[in-house]
Amino acid sequence: MTNYNKIETKLIHGGISGDKYTGSVNIPIYQTSTFMQDKVGIFKGYEYSRTGNPTRAALEALIAELENGTNGFAFASGMAAITAVFSILKTGDKVILSNNVYGGTYRVFDKVFRNFGINYSIEDTTNIETLKTKITPDVKAILIESPANPLLYITDINEVSKIAKQHNILTIVDNTFMTPYLQKPLDLGADIVIHSATKYLGGHSDLIAGLVVVNNTELAEKISFIQNATGGILQPFDSFLLIRGIKTLAVRMDRHVENAEIIVDFLSKHSAIKKVYYPGLIESQGYQINRKQAKNGGAMIAFELKNEYSPDKFFAKLKLITLAESLGGVESLICHPARMTHASIPENIRNQIGITDNLIRLSLGIENSYDILTDLEKALEESEK
Ligand SMILES: *Cc1c(COP(=O)(O)O)cnc(C)c1O
Repeated sequence: MTNYNKIETKLIHGGISGDKYTGSVNIPIYQTSTFMQDKVGIFKGYEYSRTGNPTRAALEALIAELENGTNGFAFASGMAAITAVFSILKTGDKVILSNNVYGGTYRVFDKVFRNFGINYSIEDTTNIETLKTKITPDVKAILIESPANPLLYITDINEVSKIAKQHNILTIVDNTFMTPYLQKPLDLGADIVIHSATKYLGGHSDLIAGLVVVNNTELAEKISFIQNATGGILQPFDSFLLIRGIKTLAVRMDRHVENAEIIVDFLSKHSAIKKVYYPGLIESQGYQINRKQAKNGGAMIAFELKNEYSPDKFFAKLKLITLAESLGGVESLICHPARMTHASIPENIRNQIGITDNLIRLSLGIENSYDILTDLEKALEESEK
């Protein structure tokens, strides 16, 4: 038993920290595929690294502790994690996806799972009353992102979990945008949490990884079986890198959020901007719900340029902020959802769900906020059509 319970401390000391054989403060990278057996079937807890590896096990214990779950699982990417979770379903099952779900998540349902007879529908999970009417006997899971990518819409995780439980449906939350430092879906009633750890958890734009956390042994056995059977595991070196990234999550996240709040304030007052999307804005959709379920509004923002401004000119004039896919790194990254992260969603659906051609998404890094603001200000000045 430990004598600490604050997340800032758990980030550094949680899971299995250090190495009991040598006293190494950090968990070693066990770069091995296999483990010696003393006799057939008699071994020290590990037999083959797809099934289990000590470095990965330390990461898995850490993320389970951070999300207040029972078991964690590490995968080669966020998409490998999502694929593993939904591989527990069967032909004929259906999944409700919140609209504004990550483009790759939509794609794996539309182009892969559908071929296996697993159906999906995209629903507005922000509206609990309409969501109730969409529940049919074949629905086995609801996948939520809150805030959802890229318009940062908020879904009430606790309300969805309550309804789902009444119908024996799993509530699955992609917690990539918030991380356990800002929001803990299992505490709010969800059954499974998924992360693209590529983003804030890794935090340095130098690795691709996915994590899954559950809070009961039945689900843990199912995910563990799929992880070993389908094999999309995270490698020892990447597990080490991710543990290293997670240690600084609290200090990074505090600065990410501080910068987001400063830039939201700046953009909200700027004449080139039609609308700013940020769950920390009092007038934003779901502000009260987000306050109830998360520590703050996070550090992802989106904004729409007025029609007289050109997104391409704006991107071309930025000197500090990098035009790139992804988010959650120490450097500020900007993207054009319609042609980048959400390009796999057909145009008519994109327009229906508000991902217009003037929409820009910004992941605030941890640079000096004045430098970020100046870069945006100068680029906006020069981006009129
Ligand atoms: C990036 C992302 C994913 C996919 O993760 P990868 O690590 O790129 O495979 C899934 N969900 C969300 C919300 C993401 O941002």
